[in-house]
Amino acid sequence: MKKLLILTLALLMLAGCAAQHGKTEYSEADVFAMDTFMELRAYSDESVLQGAVELIKSIESRLSVTDENSEIFKLNSGQNDSVSHETAELLKTALSICASTNGALDVTIYPVVRAWGFTTGSYRVPGADELRELLGLVDHSKVGINGDSVVLPHGMMIDLGSIAKGYTGDEVAAYLKENGVSSALLNLGGNIHAVGSKPDGSAWKIAIRDPLGGGLLGSVSVTDKAVVTSGGYERYFEQDGKKYWHIIDPSTGMPADSGLLSVTVIGENGALCDGLSTALFVMGLDGSAEYWKTHTGFEAVFLTSGGRIYVTEGLVGNFTPLGDHASEKASVIYR
Ligand code: ADP
Ligand code: MG
Repeated sequence: MKKLLILTLALLMLAGCAAQHGKTEYSEADVFAMDTFMELRAYSDESVLQGAVELIKSIESRLSVTDENSEIFKLNSGQNDSVSHETAELLKTALSICASTNGALDVTIYPVVRAWGFTTGSYRVPGADELRELLGLVDHSKVGINGDSVVLPHGMMIDLGSIAKGYTGDEVAAYLKENGVSSALLNLGGNIHAVGSKPDGSAWKIAIRDPLGGGLLGSVSVTDKAVVTSGGYERYFEQDGKKYWHIIDPSTGMPADSGLLSVTVIGENGALCDGLSTALFVMGLDGSAEYWKTHTGFEAVFLTSGGRIYVTEGLVGNFTPLGDHASEKASVIYR
């Protein structure tokens, strides 16, 4: 018995050494989740990255609006009024962004998003009467949370799609750090989360896509930050020569058309950056500039439909225009 114990201990120690050594290994994992392609790149061993994939799948199975077993689906269909503590905390964060952006972000937009077919792929343009009726079900301020139970008025439905990937980035980054990883890059369908720095200690250089032409807009250098972009080009359909995209202005029920082609939000909190990228896209340049001046915790890059780039003051000296924009000078929004 004693012999066995010693052998087990020795094996455990060996495993420990291997894990220690393995931290400098480079691993990759790809996963299709949350309706998008995700790429995880980390200086860690494979098993840690596999754990990250499992974590992403478990978050998806909690938050999906279409999976009949998810907490959100059960909440929306009136089968349940209590959610896990983690989901309740995320919903509180989301609701606070809804309030601070005056409803430009509204997590109760789902009845409208569903009518447009954005979560199911059955795209259609809803009529004005239908939209008016559905907008009667949209009001984040009517959602109540007591502890982990959620009070959702009849017919209202929640969609955390605007914030889920940013939140997932936060959760995966924390998990990787707990497992000793100090260098990783997560691309969660255009939501980038940089964990630590590059192995040589320098910052990660993150490229931002140009929605016009498919090249690059520019780059920013970051450590331990999320870089989240929202744009009308990501998911859309065309009908009668008109494009309709998946970010909806809750004040009209129509795709947000505020004069921006894309908004990139950069900050430490991925959930906040994701929620804000959607909200600022709805708010437009002037509204976003005003919001940035009165709120902390993020910087942003805007591309207007006129093709001009604007960056908030904190990105001066960090944002580098690239591609077709390489010779342009970004306009700066000062506090
Ligand atoms: P993506 O998911 O493509 O990265 P976003 O983070 O901007 O883009 O989230 C868009 C998703 O959020 C939509 O697919 C829809 O489910 C939902 N949504 C659309 N408009 C709003 C809005 N004004 N407020 C909250 N959620 C929204
Ligand atoms: Mg978002």
